[in-house]
Amino acid sequence: MNFALTEEQQMVKETAARIADEDLKPKAAHFDENHEHPAEACATLGELGFMGIAVPEEYGGAGMDYVSYVLALSEISRGDASVGVIMSVNNSLYCFPVMTFGTEEQKKAFLTPVASGAKIGCYGLTEAGAGSDPASLRTTAVLDGNQWVLNGEKKFITNGNVASYAVIAAVTDKAAGAKGISSFIVDLENTPGFSVGRVEDKMGICASGTSELVFEDARIPKDNILGEPGAGLRQMLTTLDSGRIGIGSQALGIGKAVLEEAVQYAG
Ligand SMILES: Cc1cc2nc3c(=O)[nH]c(=O)nc-3n(C[C@H](O)[C@H](O)[C@H](O)COP(=O)(O)OP(=O)(O)OC[C@H]3O[C@@H](n4cnc5c(N)ncnc54)[C@H](O)[C@@H]3O)c2cc1C
Repeated sequence: MNFALTEEQQMVKETAARIADEDLKPKAAHFDENHEHPAEACATLGELGFMGIAVPEEYGGAGMDYVSYVLALSEISRGDASVGVIMSVNNSLYCFPVMTFGTEEQKKAFLTPVASGAKIGCYGLTEAGAGSDPASLRTTAVLDGNQWVLNGEKKFITNGNVASYAVIAAVTDKAAGAKGISSFIVDLENTPGFSVGRVEDKMGICASGTSELVFEDARIPKDNILGEPGAGLRQMLTTLDSGRIGIGSQALGIGKAVLEEAVQYAG
C-alpha cells in the first residue's frame, strides 16, 4: 500500500498549515475569549475550497478526496479548534447529507452556496430529550398542501447561530417509530417561524457557536424533504458515521497543537 501523498494532497496540507500558523493561531485566543464567530477565517477557507472539499466542483466544492479533507481539517484544527469544528460540520454534517441524499435540484439550490463557503450549514438532530437516543426526537413535520409545517426545538447545534441552511430531522409518522422520522433541508434565512434560541456558554471551542434552533409553525416547501419519508434517522446516522472522519481529524490537529505548545514550553 502506498501512503505517499499526491502532489495535490501535499499542496492542500501545506496551504492549510500556512493558514493555521499565519492566520488562525495568532487570533484564536481573541475569538475564543470573545465568543466571536471567525467570519474572516471562514471566508478564507471558502475561497480555498475547504468548506466543501469533497463536493464536486459543479456544486461549488473543491472536488477533492477524503485524504485531502483529513489533511486540511487536521491542520486547520491545529491552528484554531473552533474554526476546525465549523469547517467539520459544514463539510461532514451539512454538505455530506445534501450531496448523498439530495436530488439534483436540491444540490444546485442548497449545496452550492454552502460548499462554496458563501453560506454556512448546520445539522439538527439533537433535542433536549433526544441525544444518545435520537429516535426519541419530538420535533414534528406535518404536510399541509405543498408545505411541511415544522414544530419543535433542536439543541446543541454547531453553527446554529450563524448558519443559513440546516438539515433537520423531524417526526412525520409517529406510529412508525424510528421509521417515521424524515429529514429536511431548511433555508433558515427565509423561513418564517424559525428562530435561533439560546447560544450555549461553553468551556472551550467558544468561537464555534452552539445554539438551539426553534421551529414554531415554520413552513418549508414540500420538495425540501431529503430522500424518502421515513428514511431520516438512517440518513442522519449515516451522516454521523461519515462525520467521525471529521471528528478524528479535529482531534489529530488539536493533539498536534498541544504537543507543539508543550515542546515549546519545555524547550
Ligand atoms: C459542543 C457540542 C456540539 C454539538 N453539535 C451538534 C450538532 O451540530 N448537531 C446535533 O444534532 N447535535 C449536536 N450535539 C449534540 C450531541 O450529539 C449530543 O450531546 C450527544 O448526542 C449526547 O446527547 P446528550 O447531550 O443529550 O447526552 P445524554 O444522551 O443525556 O447522555 C448523557 C450521558 O449518559 C450516558 N448515557 C445515555 N444513555 C445511556 C444508556 N442507555 N446507558 C448508559 N449510559 C447512557 C451517555 O453516554 C452520556 O455520558 C453537540 C453537542 C455538543 C456538546
